[in-house]
Amino acid sequence: MDAPPQPDRFADAVIALPIHCRRCGYNLRGLPAVGRCPECGTDVWQTVLHTVDPTASSLPRLRNPRAVGDAMLWLMLCILGATLLVLARPAARFADRFDPATADALSRHVPPEVVFGSALLAVAGFWSVVRLAPPRGQEPRGPVARDVRFVALGLVVWAISATARGLMVRVAPSPDARVADLAVTVALGAAAALVFAGLHGILRAIGLRSREYRTSRSGRQGVLVMIATVAGIVLGEIVTTLADAHAVVEVARITTMVCGLMLVVGLGYLTMNAAWIRRALRLPPPSLAAVLRVVPEMPPHAGGSRAR
Ligand SMILES: [Zn+2]
Repeated sequence: MDAPPQPDRFADAVIALPIHCRRCGYNLRGLPAVGRCPECGTDVWQTVLHTVDPTASSLPRLRNPRAVGDAMLWLMLCILGATLLVLARPAARFADRFDPATADALSRHVPPEVVFGSALLAVAGFWSVVRLAPPRGQEPRGPVARDVRFVALGLVVWAISATARGLMVRVAPSPDARVADLAVTVALGAAAALVFAGLHGILRAIGLRSREYRTSRSGRQGVLVMIATVAGIVLGEIVTTLADAHAVVEVARITTMVCGLMLVVGLGYLTMNAAWIRRALRLPPPSLAAVLRVVPEMPPHAGGSRAR
């Protein structure tokens, strides 16, 4: 662990809150911060650092941490749902191709209109944009304000494109609509890339406040990878639509599906990350000043002077 050494100014501090030893759970309240746990010998200071999260408490305060936490989680749930609804029908049709006997076994259960639900979820995501945006007159040019605008623009483009796709299959079904459909796919990809670009910046600023997010290696989803999977889906669709050679089309189809699966799994992780961040923002760790009480140093003859 890269635990910073205990600063001298806490040499006379005692633990003021009932915090429990990291290793054995012993209640350390009242013990000196420099000492060791009487039960297991672990440095008390280690438990203090674990409880306090000095990195998070050194960051500038958020105006409304609860609203920001809720907005992050809601935004991720909307994006996850909107993505699933866009991918559901292509995935069902892809799966149906493996069994020619039951040509529409799965896709029969996924009507093309589900894409309207995706547009609705993109609109619902706007609640998060409103909550994340800085108030009028405050830091309108700040980096997070720019990232929130990316997310907002991405959601607008997503809602329009998903609606367009729904209208194309419902109102004007046409056998040679493949190129128009491809244009919608490209627009959806651009929308997703915008949202992820914004999320990248927002998570960089806000994610630091969650120790779980900050330090997790396996559970933390990189946002740039998500942009790569979106690019893979769009490229796969372009080749599937425009290429002639059967083998090339097959490879492109499989690429699209693999990238789609990676996208959904990654979004699942991002949603979990948003839940971590929300939890840290709702229940922030106590500050060092709350955990430690510095006892004024007793003069050597303190006892005598009191008796006088
Ligand atoms: Zn202990």
